Amino acid sequence: MDIPRIFNISESAHRIHNPITPEKLATLGAALRLESGTRVLDLGSGSGEMLCTWARDHGVIGTGIDLSPLFTAQARRRAEELGVADRVKFTHGDAAGYVSEEKVGVAACLGATWIAGGAVGTIALLARSLRAGGILLIGEPYWRQLPATEAVAKGCLANSIADFLMLPGLLASFGDLGYDVVEMVLADQDGWDRYEAAKWLTMRQWLEANPDDAFAKEVRANLTSEPERYAAYTREYLGWGVFALMPR
Ligand code: SAH
Repeated sequence: MDIPRIFNISESAHRIHNPITPEKLATLGAALRLESGTRVLDLGSGSGEMLCTWARDHGVIGTGIDLSPLFTAQARRRAEELGVADRVKFTHGDAAGYVSEEKVGVAACLGATWIAGGAVGTIALLARSLRAGGILLIGEPYWRQLPATEAVAKGCLANSIADFLMLPGLLASFGDLGYDVVEMVLADQDGWDRYEAAKWLTMRQWLEANPDDAFAKEVRANLTSEPERYAAYTREYLGWGVFALMPR
């Protein structure tokens, strides 16, 4: 069980696999007023930076599930490095349908809402693990500018304009599902650069170390085209944020 290889290569040096920065992740942890001992569930936990830093800074107890064995191993190493291995547990597996045995105070999915068919399904899935009074966290893209054509949406690697909403529409959609939006931390273009541009050097170094790998052609093509595609489309059109929700 694994994710497509391109991500295990291009994001192998990322601690955060999203346009949110370490500073903004810390802002989010502080904004939620987390109490020591709060249980946090993270579906698609990546390399574990959210759970590990919040365990260190706020004393939370975390469980993360991720489909990438590489990212899961990195998350466990990060927990050791930050001295929180007794507080956070990372499991390699499919998070689709995952419901925690013990209810949690924070149930999160940041940038992996396809695990339950989109934001609506992921909110319903996370809600099954949430204790009364708990908070859901959803990390999701939105349009900063509405694409004028479907070709622009495709340039952003979306299937169509209909894949995402503008920010007010996205916030309204949470209300329509019966949730109050109680906090949000939004990424900015510098954060997008940290997520996207950081892949380029990683790909270049991988190509130099693996010139004869059968996958090198695909990585080379990606490195050649990505900077321009990213600057023309994703950087200009796509926003991203983490939204904190509580059922009404
Ligand atoms: N939340 C993390 C990772 C976001 S990237 C962060 O912000 O850093 C999306 C993550 O979802 C990747 O780590 C990928 O391995 C994971 N993923 C993809 N499909 C998954 C699935 N079905 N179950 C669990 N994790 C999945």
